[in-house]
Amino acid sequence: MDDVEKLKKENEDLKNSNAVKSDLISICAHQLRTSLSALKWIFKMFIDKDVGALSSEQESLINKASESNERMLALVNDMLTLSHAENTALSFKSVPTDVIKLAEQTLFEFSGESHKKQIELIFLKPNNIVPEISCDPEMIRVVFQNLIENAIKYSESGDKVVISIKNENESIEISVHDNGIGISESEQANIFGKFFRAENAKKKDIIGSGLGLFTTKRIVEQYKGKIWFESKTGAGTTFFVSLPINK
Ligand code: ADP
Repeated sequence: MDDVEKLKKENEDLKNSNAVKSDLISICAHQLRTSLSALKWIFKMFIDKDVGALSSEQESLINKASESNERMLALVNDMLTLSHAENTALSFKSVPTDVIKLAEQTLFEFSGESHKKQIELIFLKPNNIVPEISCDPEMIRVVFQNLIENAIKYSESGDKVVISIKNENESIEISVHDNGIGISESEQANIFGKFFRAENAKKKDIIGSGLGLFTTKRIVEQYKGKIWFESKTGAGTTFFVSLPINK
């Protein structure tokens, strides 16, 4: 076997062992998610008093257990999405996708959450026709999910979240605006970093893993798109995503 052949074989072996490791992470995360989801519903039954009244001490303990479970669930969900985005990075699907429909479906998924938090979700559709873009709809759905979820999460009851989609010549521009807690100027440079969470988010005890925006940026860049934001502490944040229309 000559050197080139040897290197090729080593490369192949490395790829295989990496794939096995990734599969293992995905399988573990899926199993964990199943168990954590089951716990979530059990806690909910206690909290909703479906199984009878609780003493105030029991209630407080169940609430703490439920919050901790939610944290783990959020982390496992983010791990799953990230591992999927990293594994499929070289083979992202490319199918014609209606971004407006995708946005509407995602908004519908969040209608319960926003109603519970009394946040109005507003969708500003474009006046002109938006062409389909060639992408993996499940990955672009993750982009919408992460941005809308954050906008709701980092807003207060009574606030509004506005999603808009525009057709800008060669690209589609998506924006997600909120008038929530905002991101301080000194932390803005770090916001797309893996596991990064701003101080105001941590202080408010809002559940999160710091993986959502990191994953979102990876996906957007995979499609040669751009992601950026404008924010002011206490006044709100707008995230923008621009995706090229590949004809
Ligand atoms: P997390 O799971 O913590 O929400 P993300 O990666 O989605 O992680 O976001 C990273 C950090 O960016 C968050 O922890 C929060 O500090 C900040 N952030 C993201 N979106 C918003 C927003 N709409 N308003 C205020 N802060 C935000």
